[in-house]
Amino acid sequence: MRIPGRNGGQRLTAEHNGDVSYWWRARGGFPPRRPSLPGPLSADVCIVGGGFTGLWTAYYLKQAAPTLRVVVLEAAFAGFGASGRNGGWLTSALPGSRDRYARGPGGRDAVLDLQRQLRETVDEVARICAAENIDADLVKGGELAVATTPAQLGRLQGGLLADREWGLGEPQARFLSAAELAGRVRIDGGLGAIYSPDCARIQPAKLVTGLAEAVERAGVEIFEATPVTRILPHRAGADDGARACTVFGDVTARYVLRATEGFTAQLPGQRRALLPMNSSMIVTEPLSEAAWQEIGWDGYETIGDSAHVYMYAQRTADGRIAIGGRGIPYRFGSTLDHRGVTQPATVDTLGRILRRLFPAAAGAGIDHAWCGVLGVPRDWCATVSLNPASGLGAAGGYTGHGVAAACLAGHTLADLVVGEPTPRTTLPWVGHRARSWEPEPLRWTGVHGLYALYRAADHAEDQGSDQTSPLARIGDRISGIPH
Ligand SMILES: Cc1cc2nc3c(=O)[nH]c(=O)nc-3n(C[C@H](O)[C@H](O)[C@H](O)COP(=O)(O)OP(=O)(O)OC[C@H]3O[C@@H](n4cnc5c(N)ncnc54)[C@H](O)[C@@H]3O)c2cc1C
Repeated sequence: MRIPGRNGGQRLTAEHNGDVSYWWRARGGFPPRRPSLPGPLSADVCIVGGGFTGLWTAYYLKQAAPTLRVVVLEAAFAGFGASGRNGGWLTSALPGSRDRYARGPGGRDAVLDLQRQLRETVDEVARICAAENIDADLVKGGELAVATTPAQLGRLQGGLLADREWGLGEPQARFLSAAELAGRVRIDGGLGAIYSPDCARIQPAKLVTGLAEAVERAGVEIFEATPVTRILPHRAGADDGARACTVFGDVTARYVLRATEGFTAQLPGQRRALLPMNSSMIVTEPLSEAAWQEIGWDGYETIGDSAHVYMYAQRTADGRIAIGGRGIPYRFGSTLDHRGVTQPATVDTLGRILRRLFPAAAGAGIDHAWCGVLGVPRDWCATVSLNPASGLGAAGGYTGHGVAAACLAGHTLADLVVGEPTPRTTLPWVGHRARSWEPEPLRWTGVHGLYALYRAADHAEDQGSDQTSPLARIGDRISGIPH
């Protein structure tokens, strides 16, 4: 489908729109569909959702206890959700607020531990990719948080000070001047950046496909095109376990683990648990050698700006720029996109950001646009939980930092099921609880109001002020977004 857009008179087009994401096209299409659940069955553990969270949980369960019968039920196909659509930042960024996690029983030390384990997770994923022969285009080039306005620069420097207070030294995060930044990547208007080494660029569909195959090799059964319609707890006094119900029959298991992140609101009783926040992406055609000479970016760092409505980008293995941002932030009633189809206005906005930051890419067409949902809890902090009495568990709510976090969260959830204490079972997201989101229409009004404030704040900051716009502070207060 051809989607027209405009850029100062120049028409932008996205050759493809939706089809889940460019990443699937790039790997040669969707994988062959696995069978649906053949009928009712019993398992030790049933995982609902075949994204990174569900698959990593299954992977580590089989590592720890190979004889367990582990079943994954996936509504579409493994990697259909955010795990096959994301920006490909395997980032150690914390999903949530340090201060909020520190209010838990582990206090500050537990937060430091979580930060350290997230950094180690980047190498853990690389190690498993090597061990399981998964080619995910993984390059550990680090992460650049870039400032293109004086106010953004102020926020970056403030963030670095906070990092120092939280024990992150120069090896974990350091400031780059405009000239140092330009030595790595020429970003138009780049005033400086924070460089963090603990991030890798990946191709998400390749990683999730390789992980699903590794999980199957370990003996996990994955049933696709099998939507779970209801998750029921273990009934006191009964001996049949918890249940995941489908039209093909129920799976009964000692534990049923929910790994549905941005899709969670579709399940009965979960409508206000995690807000399905939308994120949209475009990818260019391959850039010419001359364009890459001009841009640099030989280190394959992931790049994000520090706007309130921020962008995130990667240089792909096939010589393109993939760039994402918010687009429509949220759909009324927590409804979902249709296989990633995104609005022409969002294609246009992302195209303009691309051309502003990378003028050398202005001649490249937009090859594909798509979107997806990530899960946002009301306090913007992730959770890993398991209740032995009900037999129910869950992990998710990574607020857009889920690629590495899902690996550590899945490992944590598997440890909780196995029931032995490990360095992960005391992490501050274990048992963390957030309150529910507001009912509609408050939820829609609040999220859209927040992004209207953020857009206005970015616009005000673009005029050159070195202060964060008060509009953004109002937005943060209303939404409860932590800093
Ligand atoms: C456009 C975009 C860009 C992003 N960029 C980044 C990034 O660069 N770095 C980063 O760290 N994070 C990023 N994120 C967030 C990250 O991708 C997610 O947090 C992470 O992939 C979540 O993994 P998950 O397995 O928990 O959820 P998902 O990958 O969404 O998987 C959930 C699965 O559950 C299935 N499902 C849902 N309901 C049911 C049901 N009832 N029955 C059975 N199955 C069901 C779905 O089909 C889906 O496959 C991005 C997200 C998006 C949308």
